[in-house]
Amino acid sequence: MASPETSALVCELARSFYELGWASGTGGGICIREGDRVVMAPSGVQKERMRPEQMFTMALDGSVLERPEDPGLRPSECSSLFLAAIKHRDAGAVIHSHSIHALMATLLFDSEFCVSHLEMIKGIEGMSFGDRLVVPIIDNTARECDLAESLEAAIVAYPRANAVLVRRHGVYVWGRDWIHAKTQAECYDYLFRAAVEMRRMGIPTCVPGGISDASLSPRRSDAPDHP
Ligand SMILES: [Zn+2]
Repeated sequence: MASPETSALVCELARSFYELGWASGTGGGICIREGDRVVMAPSGVQKERMRPEQMFTMALDGSVLERPEDPGLRPSECSSLFLAAIKHRDAGAVIHSHSIHALMATLLFDSEFCVSHLEMIKGIEGMSFGDRLVVPIIDNTARECDLAESLEAAIVAYPRANAVLVRRHGVYVWGRDWIHAKTQAECYDYLFRAAVEMRRMGIPTCVPGGISDASLSPRRSDAPDHP
C-alpha cells in the first residue's frame, strides 16, 4: 500500500504546479514512485483540489494495485508516459507540465530545443554553463496515451536529456526523486521562457562558439541612430 504521505505530497505538488500555470484546466500531472509502485492522480480532475483518497497506486507494469473508492475515477491519461520514464531512466518522480513556456518553446524549434550559455543550465543534471542543452521535441497525438511510443523513442535517443517536449502541448520531466524532478522542471521552465524571450528579441539561444561571439548581441534596430 502506498504511504498516505506520498498521496498527500502528490496533491500538494499538484496545487503548487497549478499555481505556476503548469496544470490548469485539469491538464498536466505528477507521479511519485515508492519502490516498485507508483502513486498517480486520477484523470480529468481539478489538479488544485485533489485529495489523497483519490489517488491510484500502480505497479511498474501499469497494472492498478489500489484504486480510490469513487468508481467514477480513472487513472491518469499520462500513466504509460510516466511509466516509460521510470522504466528507462529509473525515475523516482515524473512531472507533466502544460506550461505556456514549454508550449511556446515547441513552436520555435524544429525537432530539438537548444540553449547554451545561461546560468540556469547548471541546474540541469550533468550540465554546466557553456554546455549545449538539448531537449527532444516529439509531435503531439490526439490522445495523450498514444504519445508513449514516440516518448520512449526520444528517451532512448537522447540519453543525456531528462525531459521531452511535446509540440503544441507541454513537457515531461523526471528526476531521481520528487525533489530532483521538481527542481529540474523549474530549471527547464525558466530556460524555455528565456529562450522564447531571446528569440523574440532576435538573440540566438544556442551559440557553440561561446559568449564572446558577436552574434550573441541582440539586434540593435531600436538603438539610437546618432553618433
Ligand atoms: Zn498533457
